Amino acid sequence: MKAGCHLSSSGGYLAMAQTAVSIGADVFQFFTRNPRGGAAKPIDKADVDAFLEYAERNGIGPILAHAPYTLNAAGEEPRVREFAESTMMDDLKRLEFTPGAMYNFHPGSHVGQGVEKGIELISGMLVRIFDAFGRIPSTTILLETMAGKGSEVGRDFEELREIIDRTESRIKGVRLGVCLDTCHVWDGGYDIVNDLGGVLDEFDNVVGIDRLKAVHANDSMNVRGSHKDRHEKIGKGKIGIDAFAHIVNEPRLRELPFYLETPCDLQGYKEEIALLKSLAQGD
Ligand SMILES: [Zn+2]
Ligand SMILES: [Zn+2]
Repeated sequence: MKAGCHLSSSGGYLAMAQTAVSIGADVFQFFTRNPRGGAAKPIDKADVDAFLEYAERNGIGPILAHAPYTLNAAGEEPRVREFAESTMMDDLKRLEFTPGAMYNFHPGSHVGQGVEKGIELISGMLVRIFDAFGRIPSTTILLETMAGKGSEVGRDFEELREIIDRTESRIKGVRLGVCLDTCHVWDGGYDIVNDLGGVLDEFDNVVGIDRLKAVHANDSMNVRGSHKDRHEKIGKGKIGIDAFAHIVNEPRLRELPFYLETPCDLQGYKEEIALLKSLAQGD
């Protein structure tokens, strides 16, 4: 199986890949810029080239870039939506330097405007970005499943389906995927502990299983349906180790890259990556 974790991008791409190798990871996730917003560091072409060569040689990838948390395409204030649009555009341009990457973002929070308005704002932003990009980005763009904290859009599969449909119906050739966060779907109410197969059947019926491109592997501090979004270490939360054994062996998930976002330091991540791999049968 392909497993890795979230890493600090402060040292650049090559440093992240070297760190990944040092902890037994095959993949990694990183923030494109400060998660609270702000400007991204300029692309260092020498670092990117060294990374691409190193990643190829060591079998690292696909890498998953995570948009800043402050990116809210469904915000009420125009300046919030403009920040979301310009940031995603800039991130996608930068990711062209690392072809085949994936880009994950939180669809947004409608902040009282209602889910329908939120979905319209999010798909509208995606259409404008794809339109302005001028060609199909080499990056696969993923909507993350959300816990439904506050007014988050994307708390159920139907909302994700609606964003995808409205975007793809208005702009040709683009293709959106989904990143399944185990903590978020659990907190959102989906019973991946007792009925993982049923949840994936539902995902397949509503969104289509081929849309699923990545898994955020996180245990949860809270009970199912809590809408809290507090990540816990694997096996230490309410999802539990038995459920993760099912998750990593589930035929519809096991070929996907798994990215840990648990409250761990590097040593902790190294142990969790080994744990996930030991749970995966035949590994
Ligand atoms: Zn996220
Ligand atoms: Zn996540």
